[in-house]
Amino acid sequence: KFRFNWLIFVRLNISQQQAVEYISGPCLVLAGAGSGKTRVIINKIAYLIQVKGYQPKHVVAVTFTNKAAREMKERIAQTLGRKEARGLKISTFHTLGLDIIRKEYKQIGIKSNFSLFDDNDQFSLLKALTEQWFDGDKDLINQLRHTISNWKNDLVDATIAMARAQTKKEQLFAHCYQLYEQQQKACGILDFDDLILLPTLLLQSNEQVREKWQNRVRYLLVDEYQDTNTSQYELIKLLVGYKAKFTVVGDDDQSIYSWRGARPQNLVLLNQDFPSLNVIKLEQNYRSSGRILKAANILIENNPHIFTKTLHSELGYGEPLNVISANNEEDEAEKVVNDLIGHRFATNSRYGDYAILYRGNHQSRLFEKILMQNRIPYKISGGTSFFSRIEIKDLMAYLRLLINLDDDNAFIRVVNTPKREIGPATLQKLGQLAEQKSLSLFKAAFDVQLTELLPPKRFESLHQFVNWFSQLSDNAQHDPMPVVDQLLHGIDYQSWLYETSPSPAAAQMRMKNVEQLTSWLDSMLKGDDIDEPMTLEQAVMRFTLRDMLERNESDEEEDAVQLMTLHASKGLEFPYVYLVGMAEGLLPHQASIDEDNIEEERRLAYVGITRAQQVLTFSYSTERKQYGDVSYLEPSRFLLELPQDDLNWNSKKQQTSEQRLEQGKSRLAMIKAQLAKAKAEL
Ligand code: ATP
Ligand code: MG
Repeated sequence: KFRFNWLIFVRLNISQQQAVEYISGPCLVLAGAGSGKTRVIINKIAYLIQVKGYQPKHVVAVTFTNKAAREMKERIAQTLGRKEARGLKISTFHTLGLDIIRKEYKQIGIKSNFSLFDDNDQFSLLKALTEQWFDGDKDLINQLRHTISNWKNDLVDATIAMARAQTKKEQLFAHCYQLYEQQQKACGILDFDDLILLPTLLLQSNEQVREKWQNRVRYLLVDEYQDTNTSQYELIKLLVGYKAKFTVVGDDDQSIYSWRGARPQNLVLLNQDFPSLNVIKLEQNYRSSGRILKAANILIENNPHIFTKTLHSELGYGEPLNVISANNEEDEAEKVVNDLIGHRFATNSRYGDYAILYRGNHQSRLFEKILMQNRIPYKISGGTSFFSRIEIKDLMAYLRLLINLDDDNAFIRVVNTPKREIGPATLQKLGQLAEQKSLSLFKAAFDVQLTELLPPKRFESLHQFVNWFSQLSDNAQHDPMPVVDQLLHGIDYQSWLYETSPSPAAAQMRMKNVEQLTSWLDSMLKGDDIDEPMTLEQAVMRFTLRDMLERNESDEEEDAVQLMTLHASKGLEFPYVYLVGMAEGLLPHQASIDEDNIEEERRLAYVGITRAQQVLTFSYSTERKQYGDVSYLEPSRFLLELPQDDLNWNSKKQQTSEQRLEQGKSRLAMIKAQLAKAKAEL
């Protein structure tokens, strides 16, 4: 049955169409921001399935966030039909890795019910393992965590790390890595980086498994390719094999994750590793006004470039870029929010059309405060996440223990929540026994020797808990959802929340969050029309992944101002953008100034600028209070690198009536251009 739906292709230019239709070999779409790279990916998936007859299960696409993956899947399901899209695999690298691990855990040599550790879990494990050397020193532990992560991203295991270590410190770190690996194996723990590392090592070493996956992944597409790290690139190569049927899209100027091991050089490597690579460039930007685009282009010209790219916009020149300067940070937040209120009123826009972007999470606080004071709805990504709320952490720990009784971190969190009279002394004894016998805490609780170590009453409380819980865990194998209900009732979690919350209203809120999580869980276990049903293990790991990748990502569409870090804004677009904290020390960040790593900061600014469609406003303050001290800030060097004729410093007040007239005219021109575009597309 041949159905050709031209509708999908209506809005592609010639180069985009070429990129979509080229499927005979490896393909790289290298292009600047807003040029339709992501759109190419979406259309290409539809093209492969609908026109080229690929079965959805043979098409695999990788996006940078789970949210982007869900949106993409939804759009394709709408275009192709839900049934037709079923089985299509669109996910992040980590979720893809998790899927491979879940199917191949035997080959990898781990047990099926492993636990996934998040940053906090990893931190406490490393803290415990390094006690004798680091004495709980937070900075050192974090440094170690970072180093281990880098090793894993570069496919270096503990043995290699040890062999390569030269200085005393490197040797100690490598030794800690060894201990960490051992502990991981013993307790069935995987960390974030293992989700890429383990599948990569497996596919490297096991030809049979490799062929199986290559047969499954007949076409691979990767968005935001510039931010892949070494192990991810290796995984791509292993999955596509010699047939090299893949399309990756990226922009070297938007590489902003080198601190997480991303290697923009992978763009160059691609050319060397696949000599037949077809490189397609897109040159029209469909997102931003001419002025915004010009500013972005001029800024990024200050960075050295391996590739030449050009980008133009036909959306009209647009309004000048405003710069709001303020005396201090509170003043800055006030001015920005006032500007936003005024603009919204004048243009009758939605709150959801505005984004406030900043370099670091801590910068959101004052903006939140002022937005709240003005009763403006806002949504924040990157702050305290849903998953870091106490009640959610409790429930997640219970769920983790349910799927893996050997998860010691989870055990410690739940054993006394709610209070069960199992105090630190009891836990210490239990811990000693566990260590002595190389058992997990849960297993050690069943050891006969424990009766000698603990007073009968304590032993009794502990035993009651572990017996009850191992029964639950058994039952959860078959039908998990009723078990989760039993669990919540069994521990009478609701009463516990009322006891421990500051107010009944707070307790209610927390209970609502718990219900939110269980209802998500329920729908994941059941599956829906696009997603297959998941096992409890899969669902719990998805939650952990979501927590780590997209702090507080919410799916509901609400009309709210969006606050997020520049890192989190990648790939997104908004009609009106405020890029705040444009001061030396904030953007570029002080650490990067000290380390002379300005280029990545400039790319961050580039990413921020290119999120804006119509109006871009910068802000900065000249004073900053930190730990009680006041420091003086200079406007960011990036502001000075922008074309000054297009900037309107401290706009509004000094604006002459001519300028306003000009502005009105250019806004009109832009609206006209957009109307014309919309008409043409219809
Ligand atoms: P980024 O580098 O920021 O990820 P991108 O290259 O992925 O950007 P897209 O997000 O795919 O760009 O597209 C930017 C905007 O331009 C989107 O709103 C998209 O719908 C629109 N767009 C892309 N191609 C076309 C086209 N041919 N005609 C009309 N609009 C387009
Ligand atoms: Mg994109």
